[in-house]
Amino acid sequence: MLDLFSDSQDDVYKPTISEEELSDAEVLIELAQIKEELKDRVVVLGHHYQQDDVIAFADITGDSLQLAREAAKLSKEYIIFCGVHFMAETADMLTSSNQKVILPDLKAGCSMADMARKSEIDRAWSFILKSTQKKVIPVTYINCAATLKAFVGENGGSICTSSNAEKVISWALSQGEKLLFFPDQHLGRNTCFKMGIPLEDMVVYNPNMQNGGLTSEQVEKARVILWYGFCSVHQGFTKEQVKTIKANNPQMNVIVHPECPFEVVQASDDNGSTSYIIDKVDKAPSGSEFAIGTEINLVNRLAASYPDKKIVSLSPYQCLCTTMYRVRPRWLLASFRAIKDNKPINIISVPEDIARSSLKALDRMLAIK
Ligand code: SF4
Repeated sequence: MLDLFSDSQDDVYKPTISEEELSDAEVLIELAQIKEELKDRVVVLGHHYQQDDVIAFADITGDSLQLAREAAKLSKEYIIFCGVHFMAETADMLTSSNQKVILPDLKAGCSMADMARKSEIDRAWSFILKSTQKKVIPVTYINCAATLKAFVGENGGSICTSSNAEKVISWALSQGEKLLFFPDQHLGRNTCFKMGIPLEDMVVYNPNMQNGGLTSEQVEKARVILWYGFCSVHQGFTKEQVKTIKANNPQMNVIVHPECPFEVVQASDDNGSTSYIIDKVDKAPSGSEFAIGTEINLVNRLAASYPDKKIVSLSPYQCLCTTMYRVRPRWLLASFRAIKDNKPINIISVPEDIARSSLKALDRMLAIK
């Protein structure tokens, strides 16, 4: 039996529509027909990082929280979430019990979310609490499994997004004396530094090392404990790429996502969440030039949507989220066919107790002004 709440994801079920059965072009034709046929029962959500062939079938596009909150306002029976696993979990927690959330390919995970497992967080928490008498508030980036959201819900903490990380961290440090931030070290470090916390007050807990590679004295001295996680897409951008772009095109605005390493964010002109980047490009006058450090599908879509502006990727390499890319039109079609046959597949369902605790953390985040 498939157990998505265990640490193992080996027994994942995958639907298949082979290339022998349908060509890529035939898949798109059938998708258009079946989507129209099921339009009263199904809504398709598409994350900004999805490929164009998938976005073409999305009723709503956005970032993960935005999509989950939109889904909660809809009454459709099925929500097909073209994104990754943790996003579909969040949507399931926010939608009603008679709605079903489907992830077209269950192997569409997130490398960053996979870098923090519940058992590792439990071990770290117990070491940290043994090392200090000071109050520690846990904050998790929304890019994590529901079990971790539940952990912060039960331990007085909050979830954050890349848009509100500063507000949430400042709330956390007003509630306690120390912050444990997971799973993305870069978002944590970049945000805390922006808030005036020096790098010397931050340590990194590496779950692959004994006690995270830290001594109790280091934990006691630090104000911020960052988990050793990162996004494999955003970690790939370098300070040298920023320098090269600036040397060749001094007029170019370099704007990066805060999941990028500290030195990249420091070298860039600006940084912010996906929504912030989209908004910046949208509001810039015609003729503006941007080199953007985020997932390539979004950068390419921005370039196509704003032909009056010059928009390029900061990196000469393909910065593609390969797990997002697992959601292909043929997986989407398989999800639609299964709904039509009344045998829906790949339903993401968060157990009630985990959802309840996660929602505590989410509600705390939403209450932070
Ligand atoms: S872009 Fe990075 S953080 Fe986002 S889903 Fe892909 S691996 Fe995870």
